[in-house]
Amino acid sequence: MKKNITVCLSFDFDAISVWVGTFHARSPSAISRGEFGRVGSERLLKMLNEWGVKATWFVPGHTADAFPETVAKIAAEGHEIGHHGYFHDRPKTPADEARDFDRATAALQRVTGQIPVGYRSPAAGLMPSTLECLRARGFLYDSSMMGDDFTPYYCRMGDQAPADGPFVWGRATPLVELPFTWGLDDFPAFEHVWTRNGVNPGLAAPSRIYEIWWGDFEYLYERLGAGVYILTMHPQSIGRGHRLLMFERLVERMRVRAGVRFTTMRAAAEDFRRNNPPPTTWGSSA
Ligand SMILES: [Zn+2]
Repeated sequence: MKKNITVCLSFDFDAISVWVGTFHARSPSAISRGEFGRVGSERLLKMLNEWGVKATWFVPGHTADAFPETVAKIAAEGHEIGHHGYFHDRPKTPADEARDFDRATAALQRVTGQIPVGYRSPAAGLMPSTLECLRARGFLYDSSMMGDDFTPYYCRMGDQAPADGPFVWGRATPLVELPFTWGLDDFPAFEHVWTRNGVNPGLAAPSRIYEIWWGDFEYLYERLGAGVYILTMHPQSIGRGHRLLMFERLVERMRVRAGVRFTTMRAAAEDFRRNNPPPTTWGSSA
């Protein structure tokens, strides 16, 4: 069987925003962990350039404002800029969320000249109101859900999960889901984080993560033969030397396989839409 594998390398350039947002930290030490994202990004840009691979960078508005030169460079080198909120946090109300969302878009447009068409929610914390946010702004795709692994699908709106009754399925929308999974995300594996709620040990040996990441790729390639493989990485995590060497080994092993191509997530979403006509409206039946 002829293989048809799309690999999307995605980088969530959270930088300082994840520490002040998700983890509510203010210490200069915590902030400097995010600052290292700039160093990691420069290294990754060089590698992508050598491979001739275009990636997708989900950039919080906060990062665009903190590191405008680096973010402008990412866009200037032809990578896709995706939306990742302004503060890396979960807004309290739909109105707060809409404000945060538009503030992020404005920052990305100011710094890169691009208006994003793809979204990944900070810490994969999509809320029902987020889908409405994406609908109202005509987004092409989301990458925050886990309803499949290597097969994109159309997101539903209006699902209901009552505590005292059966699950109610919503309706499919034209919004493409490019599935996310924590197993193909570097942050939980590598970041050593203490919070009031517990400790994430992180600091995994790259060989362990290589086994997981390659294992999923191998299953897709050998058993399924077609699909989209999406890696989620953070420049501040993957950008450390021993991890970059693992990442390099992984990509170089994938690249030499027949029938494997590397694209942006936007290209993968457009491809899916071309081959799978979307529901015609946001209110049509699933
Ligand atoms: Zn993030």
